[in-house]
Amino acid sequence: MTNTTTDAAPVRVRFAPSPTGKLHVGGARTAIYNWAFARANGGTFILRIDDTDPTRSTEENTQVILRAMRWLGLDWDEGPEAGGDFGPYFQTERMDQYREAAERLVAEGKAYYCFCTPQELEAARKSAAERKDSFQGYQRTCRNIDPAEAQARVNAGEPYTIRIKVPEGRGDVVVRDAVHGNVTFNAKELDDFIIFRSDGTPTYNFATVVDDAAMGITHIIRGDDHLSNTPRQVMVYEALGAPTPTFAHISMILGSDGKKLSKRHGATSVEEYRDAGYLSDAFVNYLALLGWAPDGESTIISRERLSSEFSLDHVSKNPAIMDPKKLDHINAEYLHALSDQEFADQVLIPQLHAADLEPVGECTHDADWYDLLAAALKPRTTLSPEVVDQARFLYVPDEELAYDEKSVKKWLAKQGAHNALDAAEAALSALDDEQWTPQNIEAALDPIPQQLGMGKGKVFQPVRVACVGSAVSPGIGDTLALLGRSHTLARIAQAKELAA
Ligand code: GLU
Repeated sequence: MTNTTTDAAPVRVRFAPSPTGKLHVGGARTAIYNWAFARANGGTFILRIDDTDPTRSTEENTQVILRAMRWLGLDWDEGPEAGGDFGPYFQTERMDQYREAAERLVAEGKAYYCFCTPQELEAARKSAAERKDSFQGYQRTCRNIDPAEAQARVNAGEPYTIRIKVPEGRGDVVVRDAVHGNVTFNAKELDDFIIFRSDGTPTYNFATVVDDAAMGITHIIRGDDHLSNTPRQVMVYEALGAPTPTFAHISMILGSDGKKLSKRHGATSVEEYRDAGYLSDAFVNYLALLGWAPDGESTIISRERLSSEFSLDHVSKNPAIMDPKKLDHINAEYLHALSDQEFADQVLIPQLHAADLEPVGECTHDADWYDLLAAALKPRTTLSPEVVDQARFLYVPDEELAYDEKSVKKWLAKQGAHNALDAAEAALSALDDEQWTPQNIEAALDPIPQQLGMGKGKVFQPVRVACVGSAVSPGIGDTLALLGRSHTLARIAQAKELAA
């Protein structure tokens, strides 16, 4: 028997997370591909919450997933909060539909009540194993019970499950998969699997198909851990008389050691990446390219390109390997592409604020000051929170500045350092507050190495250590301009005590 397909229908795709935990990178990439596929095809992107597992699903996890989706910028057209004509979009609110569908299949002879107890099933399984039966699944004991008798037993309160009837002689089930090609499964091995449990809840393979059919889903893009479920789901589509969608099973994301991504490899949830300081655009870019490429070269793909060019034709079926270095590299590129003002507004100020860094003393930090700090730190930043440590020297009282021991040893406790600080102090004192700019500061310091007959490093590094506490900072002009005249002079004076 062949079935109708959804090929000609307008694209409708769904991302259907189970709220049993946070949104992980694998799920995030599945969501990105669904979103991009809908956008690239002028279709509809649906978010459905598969919360039928009452022991593991929580409202809190649902909220975490919605937050992660928003942070990723994956706007959904239908689903929680967005509404839509095919709701509700929580499976727990669709229980009546599953029951109705199952009962309809029973009435049509496409499914049947099964009264086998767990003990009977276990005994049958054991004896099939002993016989080395080629078929180890359910022995279809209840398949031929007379429907009227079965109904009477149900009415009398006997516990039952509902099983689908895999049609006799169904032959091979071919799953049309846009990533894997046609994947053929032998229907004989499919078993008359349970679609409704004895506790009155639908199984995943049933509920998901009832919903996907009712919601008119045309393409199912999901992790390839579900590929083996798919022939069963095809059986359900056929029983329901619904068109079978196109499937696209995408590979797993593995750690650098080729093993399933887990805590051992570092961050796994979207929130952890957000908190570690990755930009949403960079993260989406990185995940999108983990298994898909519009061409062989681009590593930077804007959201616009992704949402216009994404196609299932270029999705790889090979496992994708998470490469944190590449992610960092892409993140740095996105950070560096921000304007100074964007960097100040989106990265710097929120990070400093989150770290509770407040300006010290009489410093007024106006927009120009933040733009200068942004310009100085941006090229040196790979992950947003790095700005906190880099800017900390600007936020501590002079007398509380921590001096890094190694830097002091290397640059201050050296012959000539005291002279360098004296000369810098004299040259810088000659500038007034108005003249205190990166260019003027550099011009004032510039002649000193020659005057003292010392190398540049031997002059500028002691000044840097005196003002920053360590030998690493942006250019000396920017550094001192940001620190301000009075703090610079105070720190140079106080560092002389450490200088040889
Ligand atoms: N709730 C299922 C999961 O999270 C959905 C799988 C599917 O897309 O069919 O694995």
